[in-house]
Amino acid sequence: MIPYGRQDIQQQDIDAVMAVLKSDFLTQGPVVPRFERGVAEKVGARHALAVNSATSALHIACLALGLGDGDWLWTSPITFVASANCGLYCGARVDFVDIDPQTYNLCPVALERKLVQAEREGRLPKVVVAVHLCGQPCDMQAIHALAEQYGFRIIEDASHAIGGEYRGEYIGNGRYSDVTVFSFHPVKIITTAEGGMALTNDDALAQRMYLLRSHGVTRDASLMTQEPDGPWYYQQVELGFNYRMTELQAALGVSQLERLDEYVATRNALAARYDDLLADLPLTTPWQHPESYSGRHLYVIRLDLDGGLVSHRQAFETLRSQGIGVNLHYIPVHLQPYYRQMGFAEGDFPKAEAYYREAISLPLFPTMSEEQQDTVVAALKQAMGRA
Ligand SMILES: *Cc1c(COP(=O)(O)O)cnc(C)c1O
Repeated sequence: MIPYGRQDIQQQDIDAVMAVLKSDFLTQGPVVPRFERGVAEKVGARHALAVNSATSALHIACLALGLGDGDWLWTSPITFVASANCGLYCGARVDFVDIDPQTYNLCPVALERKLVQAEREGRLPKVVVAVHLCGQPCDMQAIHALAEQYGFRIIEDASHAIGGEYRGEYIGNGRYSDVTVFSFHPVKIITTAEGGMALTNDDALAQRMYLLRSHGVTRDASLMTQEPDGPWYYQQVELGFNYRMTELQAALGVSQLERLDEYVATRNALAARYDDLLADLPLTTPWQHPESYSGRHLYVIRLDLDGGLVSHRQAFETLRSQGIGVNLHYIPVHLQPYYRQMGFAEGDFPKAEAYYREAISLPLFPTMSEEQQDTVVAALKQAMGRA
């Protein structure tokens, strides 16, 4: 089986984790802050908070931005469910903005249209989660301009996008958003097994997320709301969670971070090779924004079903039966049973639904060989009746 994604673990990663196992701290030690500083410096953000998943990072980012009962969070329907669920965790309601058929990201024109209407109806969103699908950055300048006009806050869900650039700057530097979130799940660009990070340039947001990550409890006198009783004293000033990352995970992260640029470069080289090898097939290869550099977490093709000989399902099944670990990223979130329950239905976001009927993610990971890639392409040609 050629998987759609796979981590790369080298001896230096194993040594780094082993060193933590033999040290004094398995959690709440020096390595988590080292990982945080490493990522913050790499991407150019003021603050970075490591947590146990990107989902946790999205949750505390929403809470820190004040999202709560009666508020709205908007995101793209083509994303992992976590980008929307974080709004529900906070008691907010969730709505979606249809995708741009070229980038597959939340469409800024559709966003503006929806904002105009929402303003009339008095239900403007408090938070918009911009998802950089496959690593390709959203049109952040346009979304940021709309945020200024309509007063919403922006979270970049950059779970696919660490190491990528938007207009010549690393994603995560916060130029166009309030908080950026990275995921370190093993299929993502770098891994800590499970793990995530929230980055911001806003001191107050960072401080709130810091409290929310660990029970809302602090030993820092400057954050306390009543006089400390003595040197043993800690205070709970918020209702927080245990979303901490362990030292083992952070050690893996520090080690993986050293190879980030290499991973992204390899992913881009493999993607360019796919572009060439697939050029003559009735399908659409991923469009790339000329002023950005994608992290290339995923390589998604869209089948041209009008001219093709097979259905989407047949192509998918044929590839799977030949040991090609194709996947579908993603089933539109609004069509999930849990979201249909809230009133969403087929036809609500037609461009996202059209994408869903045609999209297939081909295997792409940094240790993929050209031989494996040729196997994928040969199987795809066969599946499409073009062998
Ligand atoms: C993977 C992913 C998440 C969740 O990441 P975890 O670290 O597994 O919680 C959120 N959003 C997107 C777009 C993702 O791909």
